[in-house]
Amino acid sequence: MSRRLATLLAPVLLPALGPALAASPTATSYPADALELLKASISYRTVQGRGQVPAYAGFLAQRLEAAGIPAADIEITPLGETAYLVARYRGTGARRPLVVSVHMDVVEALAADWERDPFTAIVENGYVYGRGADDNKFDLTIIVTTLARLKAEGFKPGRDIILAFSGDEETEMATTIELSSRFPDAEFVLNGDGGGGRLDSDSRPVVYDIQAGEKSYADFEFTFTNPGGHSSRPTSDNAIVDVARAIERIAAYRFAPQRNELTRAWLTATGERTSGPLGAAMLKFAATGDAAAAAVLAQDPDTVGQIGTTCVPTMLRGGHALNALPQSATVSVNCRIFPGFSVASIRDQLVEVIDSPGVVAVILGDPKASDASPLRADIVAAVTKAVHARAPGLPIVPSMSAGATDSLHFRAAGIPSYGVSALFLRPEDSFAHGLNERIPLAGIEGALLHWHTLLTELAQ
Ligand SMILES: [Zn+2]
Repeated sequence: MSRRLATLLAPVLLPALGPALAASPTATSYPADALELLKASISYRTVQGRGQVPAYAGFLAQRLEAAGIPAADIEITPLGETAYLVARYRGTGARRPLVVSVHMDVVEALAADWERDPFTAIVENGYVYGRGADDNKFDLTIIVTTLARLKAEGFKPGRDIILAFSGDEETEMATTIELSSRFPDAEFVLNGDGGGGRLDSDSRPVVYDIQAGEKSYADFEFTFTNPGGHSSRPTSDNAIVDVARAIERIAAYRFAPQRNELTRAWLTATGERTSGPLGAAMLKFAATGDAAAAAVLAQDPDTVGQIGTTCVPTMLRGGHALNALPQSATVSVNCRIFPGFSVASIRDQLVEVIDSPGVVAVILGDPKASDASPLRADIVAAVTKAVHARAPGLPIVPSMSAGATDSLHFRAAGIPSYGVSALFLRPEDSFAHGLNERIPLAGIEGALLHWHTLLTELAQ
């Protein structure tokens, strides 16, 4: 996905005047190991359709085995041209397992458009450049290196740590769907592909975001049909006119404002750092659900998605000849559904809004809705410890992203899931899915500390 939504969701935050991110004083080879693994990872072109994910999974399996995970506890499952990897770091079994989720696949990158070859990791100007450097091979690399460190330290967790590496998160999510049903006894999921820290332009930390919910993504089509006929003999029925009327009604419609634990926390924390009427509206809506405050937030693209379901017409087709009455016209509507509402209920609501007997509504694909995960005290405490070790006192803000990550499917399967990426980025360095994707070299050491803290705290 779609990570770095923290960045998108928090552009109104005023920069905090804190120190630069602290690096831990470890004198070990782990940062160098992680960099080497990240560079090797980028060289696998794990793009949909290129068949490289199984090879990359095999490479990672070797690394995990070398780190001390028995081969019998590492499994690669092919699925079409991709694959997923499961590895189990065994604990005493005193408590239910935790799952660590990241994805091995990356979004396509066209070398001709990049300044550097996207599939050769290049270290330059204090950055590692390459497709996947951020999304999602950074956290993947840090996690694998951290497991090696935990093995070397003789860490014996009180529960199994299950690595669940998906192979098509960016596209079909078929591997994710299989993975999400593999561990019914898991207590929760830590996802390295969501949440994360934001730096200001001087690389000082501003905020850390725990992603604990996602809006559901759904596309609908609404079609009107008519018998058609010669355009010289217009009728009162016209499919294009019908669709135009439907679009107007959808455009004018506002779904009822919604709040949940996550959005209240995010709006409060962000509102406290946002000046003017927008900040005041954030605080008021978070506290009371006030309709006037909601109307202010609905006007801002940075906040409209946080206060309820949104639907917007995105594509249009209709008619078949310049001189014929249209026999058919269709509008596509893209919705971002607030957690707790089903896809079908939103379709039904839109049909009511369109209020035209002839409309045929279709849900495209098989979209999934998932509820937000409860903000568990143990997760928040562990993340706070991990983040404050790098950035003392940094605000830690729960968030709901516009989706979608692998967490969507784990949540839908009833397993709470938390985006807790170790990556801190400046907004101007955020190029996931884009050109010249990169991560700051200086973040590797702190990221290792981050996952070491999370796993020792939560799996002990
Ligand atoms: Zn991702």
